[in-house]
Amino acid sequence: MSKRMIILVIMLILLFTIALQGCSNKKEVVTRSTFMLNTKLDISVWIEDKNRGVEIIQECFKRISEIEEKMSVNIENSEVNKINDHTQKEFISVSKDTSEVLNASLKYAKLSNGAFDPTIGKLVELWGIGKENFRVPKKAEIDEVLRYVDYQLLINNGENKFKLAKDHMRIDLGGIAKGYAGDEVYKIIKKNSVEGAIINLGGNIIALGTKIDGSNWRIGIQDPFEPTGTHIGVVEASDKAIVSSGNYERFSIVNEKRYHHIIDPKTGYPSENGIISATIIANYSMDADALSTAVYVLGVEKGLELIENMENVESIIITKDYKVYLSSGIKGAFEIKNNKFQIVNQD
Ligand code: FAD
Ligand code: MG
Repeated sequence: MSKRMIILVIMLILLFTIALQGCSNKKEVVTRSTFMLNTKLDISVWIEDKNRGVEIIQECFKRISEIEEKMSVNIENSEVNKINDHTQKEFISVSKDTSEVLNASLKYAKLSNGAFDPTIGKLVELWGIGKENFRVPKKAEIDEVLRYVDYQLLINNGENKFKLAKDHMRIDLGGIAKGYAGDEVYKIIKKNSVEGAIINLGGNIIALGTKIDGSNWRIGIQDPFEPTGTHIGVVEASDKAIVSSGNYERFSIVNEKRYHHIIDPKTGYPSENGIISATIIANYSMDADALSTAVYVLGVEKGLELIENMENVESIIITKDYKVYLSSGIKGAFEIKNNKFQIVNQD
């Protein structure tokens, strides 16, 4: 073979290798959905090896299932129900997972002065909102059940052991456990060196890393008056959790009145203070989940005050009269796309 021919062959091999590398570097989206925690879960990862992407998502779903087994009040032998079903004399040992969520729930109960309360269980049961057994309870029934709602009677002995200090009290982690599951999913995807993913656990969203082109994710904030997928505006985010609590997510209607699932632990009734949706943007999904429920119950003024006192946490609150209240760190970074809404505290 002549020298020229050899050079030509080498060049062709080089070109072929570069072309192959180009192909293998191409990331594609892999999306899988399932139904757990009584909601739809969607996970999308942008990855070169599609099969690996599917495996990673399956690992995430397995982890969520473990968390549900431990923390659901609808699973008879869950750790939470073990605490619920015991008398006030005994401390019950729980896993690190459940202990972490219970301690976080106590932290947010204190911070919100009881607006978020993990011992809301008996009220959730009494109302049965969104379920077949829903009915509007009598005032006397609510007053009776309120005696069993008090986070200060959920006691931790400091070693992953918990008890309820009064018989008949019940824990319900529906306002925080989905957030914890989101953080655990984030860890699994990160550990697998994925650089871009969107985790959506029934509206609790985590934007992991960036899009393939390196730009931030754009997450739509749900219009609380319109069907799912209609947005009032967009938040740009990278490695952030975006969690909304709203009266449109889970509710029952009687005599044209809407009863939604976020209960004010002080009154025992679905929280009514003008807020229709509270969105929190934070570094951790568990924090955002607990805080979105807390802010919803606290109302605009106290809710914003709580958020302003926390680092790296922002909020977008929408009221029934189409007003939007922003925390100071998100002003200028959130734009309304629909002019029926109006930002009231822009400056
Ligand atoms: P959020 O605002 O985040 O939370 C509202 C929920 O928190 C309420 O539904 C109630 O559970 C609780 N809550 C209400 N008021 C307060 C308050 N003031 N403070 C603290 N908490 C409050 N649903 C089913 O129907 N069947 C199931 O089998 C089932 N299993 C689940 C298992 C797990 C581990 C989790 C996390 C949730 C499960 N759910 C189930 C759903 C759950 O009952 C809630 O409806 C759901 O988590 C609401 O989330 P959200 O983001 O819509 O609202
Ligand atoms: Mg919540």
